[in-house]
Amino acid sequence: MEVIETLAGTFDASEAARRTGGTVGFVPTMGAFHEGHLSLIRRARVERDLVVVSTFVNPLQFGDRADLSAYPRNEERDLELARELGVDLVFAPTVQEMYPAGEPEATVDPGPVGERLEGASRPGHFRGVATVLAKLFHAAGPSAAYFGEKDAQQLAVVRRVVADLSFPIEVVVCPTVREADGLAMSSRNARLSPEQREAAGCLFLALSEAAELARAGERDAARLVAVMAREIGATPQARLDYAVVVDDDTFEEVRTVDPPARAVVAARFGDVRLIDNLLLPTP
Ligand code: AMP
Repeated sequence: MEVIETLAGTFDASEAARRTGGTVGFVPTMGAFHEGHLSLIRRARVERDLVVVSTFVNPLQFGDRADLSAYPRNEERDLELARELGVDLVFAPTVQEMYPAGEPEATVDPGPVGERLEGASRPGHFRGVATVLAKLFHAAGPSAAYFGEKDAQQLAVVRRVVADLSFPIEVVVCPTVREADGLAMSSRNARLSPEQREAAGCLFLALSEAAELARAGERDAARLVAVMAREIGATPQARLDYAVVVDDDTFEEVRTVDPPARAVVAARFGDVRLIDNLLLPTP
């Protein structure tokens, strides 16, 4: 396994693979691997010849300096796990390598899908995501890039950017990996106190109740929203940010549950903000 810190070095390595007919699978992450990340890497390993994983913690997508400095890092362990899973190349650049002139002046505008929900709660977040992905895509030159359903709005943003800017990349979606109580794995979970960790189970519970209603034929989104808000609202350690039903492509809120529709939630547990979602089943 190679660990490369430069954009040019990553470009050269993937170019060499492509020249000999190899396919490149790319898994963008911000390091601090958990089973969610590993599931993406395993899938890429099965499907592509050269597997490139990036671990850059992108300051551009953090509005909040405190959130950036509190973001967990575990470089040694990440490299060990990547090696075990048969990753070919880890791209681990410095901020200076990615943004040598400081914050870039030219950025990628993800459009309306990037302004809703997470985009509204975290202004500039999806522009930061779209911008770093454009740079990473240019360097890694993948035929496929692997993303988790856990960050469903990010996925909608990525699909929009890839389609509208004609990146020749297949976007592969991997299902959300969960803890035993349903809590979606996240690097942020490690910052929860034991009480907050227990309370955080309310997110999946709320989503499951909404999914149950949808399966039973309920099409009024307000009813689903009400059960989710009640479940999270009744949890002492949780502060609800939003609980909504959206169109899965645009992330616009809907009044009627028409597939593909997704229930999405965000809540704070102390100063840790968690998000989760479920695609709603049809009756
Ligand atoms: P991150 O390091 O949090 O930026 O995440 C990197 C990639 O891993 C993104 O595509 C995430 O959607 C994905 N991911 C994060 N958590 C999970 C999870 N619990 N299950 C599946 N994929 C995940």
